[in-house]
Amino acid sequence: MPNRSDETDLSFPFAEPPAAGEVVEVAPGVLWTRIPLPFRLDHVNIYLIDDGDGWAVLDTGIDDERTREVWWSLLSGPLAGRRITRLIVSHYHPDHIGLAGWLCETLDIPLVTSQTTYLGCINISLRPGGLDARPYRDFYERHGMTPEAVDRVTSQGHHYLKMVTPLPPTFLRLVDGDTLRLGGRDFAVMSGDGHAPEQLMLHCREDNFFLAADQVIAKISPNISVWAVDPEGDPLGLYLRSLRRIRENIAAPTLVLPGHQLPFYGLHERCKELAGHHAARCRQIEEACRERPRTVAEIVPILFSRTLDPHQMSFAFSEAHAHVNHMIRQGALTQFVGEDGCVRVATADRADFSRA
Ligand SMILES: [Zn+2]
Ligand SMILES: [Zn+2]
Repeated sequence: MPNRSDETDLSFPFAEPPAAGEVVEVAPGVLWTRIPLPFRLDHVNIYLIDDGDGWAVLDTGIDDERTREVWWSLLSGPLAGRRITRLIVSHYHPDHIGLAGWLCETLDIPLVTSQTTYLGCINISLRPGGLDARPYRDFYERHGMTPEAVDRVTSQGHHYLKMVTPLPPTFLRLVDGDTLRLGGRDFAVMSGDGHAPEQLMLHCREDNFFLAADQVIAKISPNISVWAVDPEGDPLGLYLRSLRRIRENIAAPTLVLPGHQLPFYGLHERCKELAGHHAARCRQIEEACRERPRTVAEIVPILFSRTLDPHQMSFAFSEAHAHVNHMIRQGALTQFVGEDGCVRVATADRADFSRA
């Protein structure tokens, strides 16, 4: 679930997104268009990058009737006359990879992505119900999740597959540190973890723009989640590491072309704001756990004050969990199992709770 944060030093060179079915040139040889999504976050940004005699496409939208219609109207409208050369997919979330299989087959183009994106998507399609297994249910229950939210989170493979067409049998792999040549320009390939494993970003130093996917967005803090399959994972630590690398490698006055919302200037400021947002959440958790030990479920309402449905709850819970796991790694929290079988965390200076 996106978290809104409105404090900002950013500037937005394009005040409005392109109208439905239209494209706008946002950087030399880069077109921006939008695909609607049937969610609270109601769109995804798609970019078309000059690739010599055609356009390389970045990301797709989910698979549904409306998205296919939008693609047909783009292909027969503003994109007519030049071919589509290849499809690059930033990460495995359905709003970015959903129509990859269909687009690659329909247009007879290769899929270019990271190995983790490709295999992650294939893995879900091989075992869509795989998360509904005792060890995963136990994990969520031990941390205090409600049965309704456990049902939602353990069935998400089925929800995912409804939005994603089967991937092509082969892909072209991009790896962090690669150089991707598109239409006579070199793009530095970066990958970053935290929001999705091995999410790809492309940096064009020559023309000073950065295709940031969901890693850095102007007014949304990308969801960072712990998943039951990697119960002690530290996706927040990986995300913060990625933000540091972005600031080290990309100059401050670079145009950011994100996966959602408007393009913007202020990359370094935004990376700092995002890191600050997570630091503030860690402080809230620390204060609450200094009062008394808490389960992850008890931490959720401290971070998210509004009422959450089971779907939102599963994301909020996993995001709260990411902060807890990060703080355990940092030594700020310790966890223990109470007499009721639930896992609780306490601040390290109150570790005597663990013996209570
Ligand atoms: Zn995403
Ligand atoms: Zn997204």
